[in-house]
Amino acid sequence: MTDKARAKILVTGQVQGVGFRPYIYQLAKHYQLTGWVCNTGEGVSIEIQGAKVQDFIKYFPLNLPHLAKIDTINTELISPYAEESSFDIIESIAGAACTKISPDAGTCQHCLKELFDHTSRFYLYPFLNCTQCGPRFSITRQLPYDRSQTSMDVFPLCKECHCDYHDPNNRRFHAQPTACIHCGPALSMSVNEIVQLINSGNILAIKGLGGYQLICDARNEATVLKLRKRKARYSKPFALMALNLESASQYTSISAEEKTLLTHWSKPIVLLQKKHPVHNGSNHGSSLLPAPIAPGLSHLGIMLPYTPLHYLIFHALAGQPDGIEWLHEYLANILIVTSANASGNPLLFTDEAAGNELKEIADAIVTYNRDIVTRLDDSVLRVINHHPVYVRRARGFAPEPIQLVGEVPSVLALGSYLKNTICITRGNEAFISQHIGDLKNAASIHFFHETITRFTKYLQVKPECVIHDYHPDYYSTYFAQHQALPSIAVQHHHAHLAAVLAEHQLQGKTLGLALDGFGWGDDGMAWGGELFLFDHYHYERLGSLLPIYLPGGDIAAKQPWRIAAGILFQLGQEDQISKRFKDQRGHVLLLDLLKKRINSPLTTSCGRLFDAASALLNICHYSHYEGQAAMLLESKVSAPHALENGWVIEGKHLNLLPLMQQLLNCSPEEGANLFHGTLAKALATWINDWSKKLQVYTVVLGGGCFLNQFLCELLVRYSHEYGLIPYLAKQLPPTDAGISLGQAWLGGNKVIVTTRKDDQYVSSHPC
Ligand code: ZN
Ligand code: ZN
Ligand code: FE
Repeated sequence: MTDKARAKILVTGQVQGVGFRPYIYQLAKHYQLTGWVCNTGEGVSIEIQGAKVQDFIKYFPLNLPHLAKIDTINTELISPYAEESSFDIIESIAGAACTKISPDAGTCQHCLKELFDHTSRFYLYPFLNCTQCGPRFSITRQLPYDRSQTSMDVFPLCKECHCDYHDPNNRRFHAQPTACIHCGPALSMSVNEIVQLINSGNILAIKGLGGYQLICDARNEATVLKLRKRKARYSKPFALMALNLESASQYTSISAEEKTLLTHWSKPIVLLQKKHPVHNGSNHGSSLLPAPIAPGLSHLGIMLPYTPLHYLIFHALAGQPDGIEWLHEYLANILIVTSANASGNPLLFTDEAAGNELKEIADAIVTYNRDIVTRLDDSVLRVINHHPVYVRRARGFAPEPIQLVGEVPSVLALGSYLKNTICITRGNEAFISQHIGDLKNAASIHFFHETITRFTKYLQVKPECVIHDYHPDYYSTYFAQHQALPSIAVQHHHAHLAAVLAEHQLQGKTLGLALDGFGWGDDGMAWGGELFLFDHYHYERLGSLLPIYLPGGDIAAKQPWRIAAGILFQLGQEDQISKRFKDQRGHVLLLDLLKKRINSPLTTSCGRLFDAASALLNICHYSHYEGQAAMLLESKVSAPHALENGWVIEGKHLNLLPLMQQLLNCSPEEGANLFHGTLAKALATWINDWSKKLQVYTVVLGGGCFLNQFLCELLVRYSHEYGLIPYLAKQLPPTDAGISLGQAWLGGNKVIVTTRKDDQYVSSHPC
């Protein structure tokens, strides 16, 4: 009888290309086990043998490399082998590529140490990386993840890198993008030159991890204004990059949750509350940044460096100090780091396109000779109710899948028109693409096609059907109807809320509140403030916000004063239109349109109600980017409170006209507080009424308005006070960027329900 045991373990999840095998190797050595580990088509397969097999089994999931994520572990005890003397990492077992693609990760602490250690062979090398950090998704052509399948294939490893790559005790064991100054990519311009250009007020286009970025000195107002002019981006906020938390907190207040997010390996942009310049309590001089960085907004989007090149730029800005202590010290320099593209176009990622399209915008273009395969914008998050909420999900997160409650057939969901993402399902996983953008122009539509092709190839699936938004004029609808596959149309807000249902794996009866900009309703009207009752995959529209006018049609979304004028008309205060909006061209004609009901469609959109409030309070009459009027309004909020009798529930409608009437007598600040407080209270009361009536206490909340911190926090608080159980989007943005998941989940389940008979689910009707 031997005390030896042998176990066979199959691990699935994000376990390839993340340092998982060396981790297993070292752990097996630690427990004096023999056996082997290898990558397979399904994940990682391990066999271990020895006296401490049980210890290994217990311990290995507890201290994983930080990029690894386990979905399942299947363990089986088998008969020990008589002769086995070592533990080895063996060649991959070929099979269908079912593993995941890891997202790109910011430079890790170990690599950072080497980057600034003059004895290291990676000293000041802008492309160092290891199994714990560096490019992944952005350089991978297809799975299995292997150097030959990435854009590193053109860089043969030098002798030293070769040794690192094959040494299981090395941090770079099988680190596919590993490289050094002798064998890897090189920059087209020295870091010193880059920094000289930045310091003298130039705008640089620098090839980053997921695409080109425009970088300049954020403290130089003339440069900021030059950037605005050249990008033709007159008010949309720019993102910033600060060296560390100490530097970022010079300009913003940062909570514990926000610190965790900023320093997470994904290194997203985090929206942080601007500090009041007078009360910052800092010793570092002025904390004022030029106003044109984020005009009128209470928050700044800040990220920390995430590539070796970013760190090298800060190093040079800091005067090239020795050692690594400077990395944690305050540095006054702060940079604008924004995606390089012409306004409205997607991020540029090829050297050719950058050369053509950025010459008018950038004073110099800095590139390097490794291709970006998949472009990725920087991700953006904000903390609401102590939880991270995605504003934009891309680098560092895509293409991590979302687990569904059960398996669905493979489907392709095409998302929405604005903030487009696509979603493809494989088994019980939904893969949502990175942010693609608004499908408004040829370049974005090209990106949309490119993403569909790439995801289908990565995942090696053949979708059985295509799901699209119900809107007849969206490009996605046209695309869906021209595929050789059955198609299903899903109502916009149904998809919004289904995305929340899907990620929380909710089933059965729930209430759903969609607060949104615009979505094509079943009746052809512009919906956007909807209360639904869900029963599995079906919904009933219980009610909506009271319809308001969109005088002039679509243009009203860009001209909030028009919507405000429509509200004044509804309030019977026509004289106020000419008083308040006398400077707006067309205000007289607009009243005429309203009276005759010409080109003044109705909408139940909550986003448009925000616009109207913003314009009535003289905060914003014109929106230059999506959501601007609402964001400026939110920026005025300090202490939201509810107006008693500020709303009326009339049949199926929640009428907020009493609140809007009150705003006419408010200052912008008072009005912003009143609007947010009353809207949240009214919505909570409305949901609560239905909840009691229907005995359904779960409510899913979705739509772009849930990026509003005050609305979201208050609504959740009131919901809890009423005994409701609210669910918000956690793994995806609550905006149109999350719609593709809801579409895929509904579509996939519809395919099951209709027993896969094509003719039954080819439809142009909502699910
Ligand atoms: Zn590293
Ligand atoms: Zn090398
Ligand atoms: Fe929407």
